[in-house]
Amino acid sequence: MYHGVVKEGEQLDCWWLLGEGVFRRQVEYVNDNFCVVSLDDVYRHISSNKTLPKNACVITFDDGYKNYLTTALPVLKKKGLPSTVYIPSHLCENQDTIWTDKLFTALYNSRRISLDLTDLGLGFWKMSPKLERMRTAHALVDLLKKRPVEVKSTQLDMILKRLEDQPEWQSYPGPNPFELLSVKEIEYLSKEPLVTIGSHSANHEVLTNLSEEKIEYEVRSSKRMLEEWIGRPVNHFSYPDGKYNGKVVGYVRQGGFKTAVRIGLTIVSRKRLFEVPRLAVGSWDSDHEFKSMVNGLVSVKVETRNFFRRLNGEIHQEC
Ligand SMILES: [Zn+2]
Repeated sequence: MYHGVVKEGEQLDCWWLLGEGVFRRQVEYVNDNFCVVSLDDVYRHISSNKTLPKNACVITFDDGYKNYLTTALPVLKKKGLPSTVYIPSHLCENQDTIWTDKLFTALYNSRRISLDLTDLGLGFWKMSPKLERMRTAHALVDLLKKRPVEVKSTQLDMILKRLEDQPEWQSYPGPNPFELLSVKEIEYLSKEPLVTIGSHSANHEVLTNLSEEKIEYEVRSSKRMLEEWIGRPVNHFSYPDGKYNGKVVGYVRQGGFKTAVRIGLTIVSRKRLFEVPRLAVGSWDSDHEFKSMVNGLVSVKVETRNFFRRLNGEIHQEC
């Protein structure tokens, strides 16, 4: 499971953006050692109880970033490897930004030395030096993800407003790594034989924080919109932030999807096609860790380490 892949020198310090060089090395390794298949292949094999090819592997991208098209896809095409990109349809249509990326960027570019959010019940945060600012950014994003969506939206707006007094709060050191694919680009991608278009909901809200009515809307309207754009069925779903429960699975299943992916390590089986597990690849993985992970040697230790690194906002790039 990838998110963004950015050109060298463009990378922001967040785990979900990978440098192009690292990505290329990983793709070469996977191409040399695995049999990369499409998600449709997986569905066909598993639903008919057939065995997948030896060392079968699927490559997916969450969030629908433009850099999937501009940076990741050319590397994959060169090797002839299929991949799936999960699109937050309504955000792409409006050329909006995923709220977590908005907040991350505003904090990343801030020149404040502290951020007082005690009046919002969100505490007092250090913003300097850079490592503290990154910790704050990761921790605040995680904190807001746990709030009901309406509360989160109000608090997010208030935080962004407070950071607006920073003249560069919306600027990036280079192209915006969080820019989403446009409708035209999604239409173009749908004609690429190696690309599968999946849904990543409509607005990339944490679905378990929503009312049932809103979960249904996020799932169904996204599928409908994507299918209108690309003129064929959209069969695969990715839970935003990997969060789901029985109700969410129910709506995804009833909405007509055939598979749904999450984050984690389990066996893929016919009964669990709505909980297909994936390994999260991030900028914190060294070449060695990446190889261990895709070879199934990922241990509780690595998973736990990644969890705490993310929690602490620790940035770690060894490659
Ligand atoms: Zn996502």
